[in-house]
Amino acid sequence: MKAFTYQRAATPAAAAEAFVRTPGARFIAGGTNLLDLMKLEIDSPAHLIDVNGIGFDQIEATQEGGLRIGALVRNAHLAADARVRKDYGVLSRALLSGASGQLRNRATTAGNLLQRTRCAYFYDTNQPCNKRVPGSGCSAIGGVNRQHAVIGASGACIATHPSDMAVAMRLLDASVETMRADGARRVIPIADLYRQPGETPHLETVLQPGELITSVVLPRPLGGLHIYRKVRDRASYAFALVSVAAVIQPDGTGRAAVGGVAHKPWRVEAAEALMGRGATAMAAALLAGARPTEQNAFKVTLVERTLSAVLAAAKQGGA
Ligand SMILES: Cc1cc2nc3c(=O)[nH]c(=O)nc-3n(C[C@H](O)[C@H](O)[C@H](O)COP(=O)(O)OP(=O)(O)OC[C@H]3O[C@@H](n4cnc5c(N)ncnc54)[C@H](O)[C@@H]3O)c2cc1C
Ligand code: SF4
Repeated sequence: MKAFTYQRAATPAAAAEAFVRTPGARFIAGGTNLLDLMKLEIDSPAHLIDVNGIGFDQIEATQEGGLRIGALVRNAHLAADARVRKDYGVLSRALLSGASGQLRNRATTAGNLLQRTRCAYFYDTNQPCNKRVPGSGCSAIGGVNRQHAVIGASGACIATHPSDMAVAMRLLDASVETMRADGARRVIPIADLYRQPGETPHLETVLQPGELITSVVLPRPLGGLHIYRKVRDRASYAFALVSVAAVIQPDGTGRAAVGGVAHKPWRVEAAEALMGRGATAMAAALLAGARPTEQNAFKVTLVERTLSAVLAAAKQGGA
């Protein structure tokens, strides 16, 4: 690990200002992703700004009937919150399917959204990777890419976004509240937060350098049955090959978002109108234009089968 300096920030404004003052700075929250990247010298910040002391560690009701989740709320706390379990069960289930109890106790809401891909070549500094070193090439294309994206990828990068929580947040139409380095605040719908890889896979979100996430806001509860189904190579402590987050109403209408298939949580609202026609029609619309590799073509079938399992579970009234 390379040497770095460290400071604790007491307010979001202080954190944002410190970022502007110090070249090569990064925010650190739980550190469960960033510290690993630093140890492997994939990311080598010159300065760490610890945001654990800025507040924003509570879950509060909003005037609109939703919830405002502070950026520093731990994944374990969020999953266990009685309001989340009752009204946003899909979020609680997605969180509990991720990582381990120990990691969830440390990992934060903002850090989870901004965690980096798990592409093995991204983690191997001996291999070309456009996301790690722009312009160096993509080792996954033509390499081992069983875990990689089947849709929305580019000739520069076929990585997936690894977060389970982000899939549920996308399903629920969450918004991200931020503070920019100049103190300006903005609200970003999560549908607009993540970029497709295109020619610049190292730019993963629309956040500007030094833009701090302060909260994530959930709209009013949707009601209905909440299901999160994660398919992975082993039963726990593994990232999703494919996951489906769904909210299904008693009349059979609903929403579904898919994880493990793209550079961002994948949701196609037009596909949701086909829910009543079953998983095959819905999966075809969700993954229209998919370009899987030889190794990961199974994911296209897996999405359809996972959706099918989710719809069947909904008919039986359970997750
Ligand atoms: C072994 C292992 C297994 C895992 N399994 C899963 C899994 O199955 N599913 C899953 O979803 N996740 C999994 N994870 C990932 C884990 O959920 C993330 O590491 C964690 O959520 C990151 O949160 P953090 O607070 O520790 O982020 P950090 O490591 O502190 O930060 C991550 C990134 O977010 C930025 N950041 C943090 N806070 C802010 C802020 N407020 N504003 C702007 N930028 C910010 C940091 O600069 C950094 O770039 C796993 C991790 C490990 C190590
Ligand atoms: S898929 Fe993306 S992250 Fe993986 S090697 Fe290619 S450019 Fe890097």
